[in-house]
Amino acid sequence: MKTAGKLVVLGSINADHILNLESFPTPGETVTGNRYQVAFGGKGANQAVAAGRSGADIAFIACTGDDDTGERVRKQLESDNIDIAPVSVVQDESTGVALIFVNAEGENVIGIHAGANAALTVERVEAQRDSIAGAEALLMQLESPVESVLAAANIAHENHTTVVLNPAPARVLSDELLALVDIITPNETEAEKLTGIRVENDDDAARAAKALHDKGIGTVIITLGSRGVWASVNGDGRRVPGFKVQAIDTIAAGDTFNGALVTALLEGEPLDKAIRFAHAAAAIAVTRTGAQPSVPWRNEIDEFLS
Ligand code: ADP
Repeated sequence: MKTAGKLVVLGSINADHILNLESFPTPGETVTGNRYQVAFGGKGANQAVAAGRSGADIAFIACTGDDDTGERVRKQLESDNIDIAPVSVVQDESTGVALIFVNAEGENVIGIHAGANAALTVERVEAQRDSIAGAEALLMQLESPVESVLAAANIAHENHTTVVLNPAPARVLSDELLALVDIITPNETEAEKLTGIRVENDDDAARAAKALHDKGIGTVIITLGSRGVWASVNGDGRRVPGFKVQAIDTIAAGDTFNGALVTALLEGEPLDKAIRFAHAAAAIAVTRTGAQPSVPWRNEIDEFLS
């Protein structure tokens, strides 16, 4: 039986180690940074947190290592209103890590160690069959093994659970996977990777959306940064602008947008209103630094919109 409005997020968990420095070190060079912070991230966790804080009834399928970081992350996720029963603790593995250098221009270079995220196997997905089948929607990204994403999409599709895919980071995907997706939310880079169409204006976005509709996806939402989104339902598309704010750090903007969008859709909001809600959540997030620390709570989003 379906639980009304229940959301399952499947995805990655990382600890982001962020070092701000004047300029990036060149090979063989050591550079002293001027600010260091550790914040929890990973696209899966960020989107789960965005959904939890914006009010969704959400369970998270993911993996951490059996290390201190994993323990702290799980505690944090619980305090963000997330059911972490489906989070596996993988023996002798470290929790995923992102090492991020940010230079004075705000550019970043990032190295990632998947760690326990690579252990989110098809078998682990199968073990969560009932929770995927019983949910109203399944939200996924591409920082987990793609065969596991496919397995989860198949379970969802068979059981009429809406499949929402944020195809990030950018990669080419099989027609088999795309045909199982109900709602896809690429940014411009990801849309180009999936369709071969460079998205620089609304006409390009409409063409990229059509290419994705042709793969069998009913709803295409291409996020366009400060320009908002191109939203297209079965080929009927239009741009929905976002909110004007003073952006200082766009890390996790897309993740916040996705978590909030699905939350609003599960509350029964029509697509336009759900996008407006997600735009508000993401607009708040870009005015703050870090991944999860920047994700707003429901009362903050409601206040922003009032
Ligand atoms: P990603 O972070 O995945 O690249 P985008 O940059 O397209 O995603 O942004 C996702 C959403 O975040 C946008 O649709 C918008 O709602 C919000 N957003 C991003 N940048 C800004 C900005 N500068 N001002 C206001 N909202 C923004």
